[in-house]
Amino acid sequence: KTVAAAQKTYTIGTDVTFAPFEFANQDNKYVGIDLDLIKAIAKEEGFKVDVKPLGFNAAVQALEAKQIDGVIAGMSITPERKQKFLMSDPYYKSGVVMAVAKKSTIKSLKDLRGKRVAIKTGTDSADYANSVKQKYGFTTVTFDDSNNMYQDVTTGNSAACFEDQPVMQYGINNGMALKIVGKPAREGAYGFATSKNNQALMTKFNAGLKKLRANGQYDKIIERYLGNGS
Ligand code: GLN
Repeated sequence: KTVAAAQKTYTIGTDVTFAPFEFANQDNKYVGIDLDLIKAIAKEEGFKVDVKPLGFNAAVQALEAKQIDGVIAGMSITPERKQKFLMSDPYYKSGVVMAVAKKSTIKSLKDLRGKRVAIKTGTDSADYANSVKQKYGFTTVTFDDSNNMYQDVTTGNSAACFEDQPVMQYGINNGMALKIVGKPAREGAYGFATSKNNQALMTKFNAGLKKLRANGQYDKIIERYLGNGS
């Protein structure tokens, strides 16, 4: 019998409120698809993780400063991020949608002229909103987390927000007083990120993800949060 070598612990940053990918449950424990995935991959590949809910932008900044080893936070794989970081194989499809208050009459970007729109710092949806705001004549206000951004719309301070489709849909299915209007923009996928010099961790992530997909654990994790057919 061989003696197992001590397992390496990686510090992984995540978002604070981004259900169903990461969120605090009723017992104030962080749960979600991203947490279950990284933990299952770590188990499969023989390493340990210390997951820190830092907030999305803070997590990405901490990775850039090499204060943490990786980010799993519903992070979209974009060409800009691939310049800065190693990004894993895609693990979940997403896209950017516009959401408005349930009773709002706003139907498209054209209805945003002169209005205020809530966006979340450092996200791909904020980048998208900023890229079209001049054309459609709206102003933006930024928030560090998704819940505060939604609240600005439900209270009527902002006319709309931009958010990832699976996250917005999950929130609405769970009682958020918002509705999605129009079609998703910037369709893409989520990936796990590490610094460029951490190929070892990235290789383990991709290998583990492949195994979870093959052995049914990936589907089980999705099912745990989204149930049948969601
Ligand atoms: N998918 C978006 C991005 O990568 C938002 C991520 C998030 O808010 N956690 O920018």
